[in-house]
Amino acid sequence: MIERKREEYYINVNPLQTGGRTNSEVRKVALQYVDGYSVCDYCKGMLHLIEKPPICDLTRELSRFLDMDESRITLGAREGKFAVIHTLLQPGDTIVCDSNRHYTTYVAAERVGAKIYEVESTGYPSYEIRPEGYREMIEKIRSETNKPPKLAILTHVDGEYGNLTPAKEIGEICKEYDVPFLLNAAYTAGRMEVKGKELGADFLVCSCHKGFGVPGAIGILATTNRWVNELFRKSQVYKKKDVELLGCTARSLAVATLIAALPYVKERVKKWDEEVEKARWFVDRMEGLGNITQLGVRPTQHDLLRFETPLLREIGKHHRKKGYFLYYELEKRGIIGLKPGQTDWFKLSTYGLTWDQVKYLYEAFEEIVKKFSG
Ligand SMILES: *Cc1c(COP(=O)(O)O)cnc(C)c1O
Repeated sequence: MIERKREEYYINVNPLQTGGRTNSEVRKVALQYVDGYSVCDYCKGMLHLIEKPPICDLTRELSRFLDMDESRITLGAREGKFAVIHTLLQPGDTIVCDSNRHYTTYVAAERVGAKIYEVESTGYPSYEIRPEGYREMIEKIRSETNKPPKLAILTHVDGEYGNLTPAKEIGEICKEYDVPFLLNAAYTAGRMEVKGKELGADFLVCSCHKGFGVPGAIGILATTNRWVNELFRKSQVYKKKDVELLGCTARSLAVATLIAALPYVKERVKKWDEEVEKARWFVDRMEGLGNITQLGVRPTQHDLLRFETPLLREIGKHHRKKGYFLYYELEKRGIIGLKPGQTDWFKLSTYGLTWDQVKYLYEAFEEIVKKFSG
C-alpha cells in the first residue's frame, strides 16, 4: 500500500506541506521528467547552464527574483546551509544563530565541526528574536574567542512559531562587525517577496519543496558577487564541477517543475498580504472559541500558526478516543494535517486556502468544540 490521497481529497493544513502543494501545470511537467537523470539530455557538464530544459534561464531568473547575484540549485535548504558553512568555517570555528533555528542548521554545523552560539528568544509566549541579541552575541563570542564568529545565520521565519524576524536590522549588525550573513528563507521565499541584498544577506537558502509549490528534493543557494568564486569554486580536476554541490544536484523532475512553477510563484508572492489576512482572521476566530491562544509574535505575520489549546486538552480528557478525538473529528470533515493525538497544542497553516476553505476550517473547529464542550 503506497497509495496516497491527500491534496486531492482533503484540506491539508500541515505547515510543512502547504507551500509545496503542486498545481496541475507542475504535475504535467513532473510526469514528463519523472525518469532518472531526465534533465541531462542536453547537459554540457553544468546543471545551472543546461539550455534544454531552460535551467540556465531559471537560475538567472531566481537570482533576480531573490535579489542576489548568483544562484545554484541544491537539494534543499539544508544542503545550501551546509555548503556555506563548509566553505567558510574550519572545525572549531563559531557561528551565531537564533534559538528558533531549524534542526538542520545545527546538524549542518555539526557536520563541519563548527560551534553554534544561539541568540535566545524572549521565550513564552512570543518567542521573539531581538535583532540586538545578535550584537550582544557577536560581542560575547569576540570576548570569549578573541575573534568574531565566522558566520551569522538567521531563520527568517521559523517553523515553530511562524515568527518573521527583521532580517534587515540583523544584516546591518553583521555588516558592522564584518560577519557574513546567511538568511534561511525556507519559510519565506516563494510565499512572500524576499530581497536578499536589500536585507544585507551574503547568502540566501530556500526550500522549493516547502515554498515554491514543487516536488522535491530541491532548494536554492544564492549569493553575491563577493562570494561567488569561493562558494561556487570548481574542482581542480573537473573544471566544470562545483565542489560544494558535488558536481550536480537535482537531476530530474524537481528542477524541471521549478521552471514551470516560477511564473506562478512570482504572482503568488504578490498576494502575500491576503495570506496573512486569512491567518489573522483564523486566529481571531479560534481564540474566540475559549481557552485557545496563538503563540509567537502577535498579530501573526505568517501562515504558520501555533496554538496552545487547553480547551481541546480538556475535551480529550473525557473523550473515549482521548487526545485522538480531534484528529478523527477533523478528518471526518475532510481536514487533515494535524498530528494524531495532539491536543495540548498544534501547528497548522492556512496557506493557499481560499477564504471559503479558511471559513470552513474554522467552522469545523467551532462545531467540534460545541459538540464536546460542557
Ligand atoms: C523546512 C526547513 C528547513 C529544511 O528545508 P529542506 O529544504 O528540507 O532542507 C530548513 N530550515 C527551516 C527554517 C525550515 O523550515
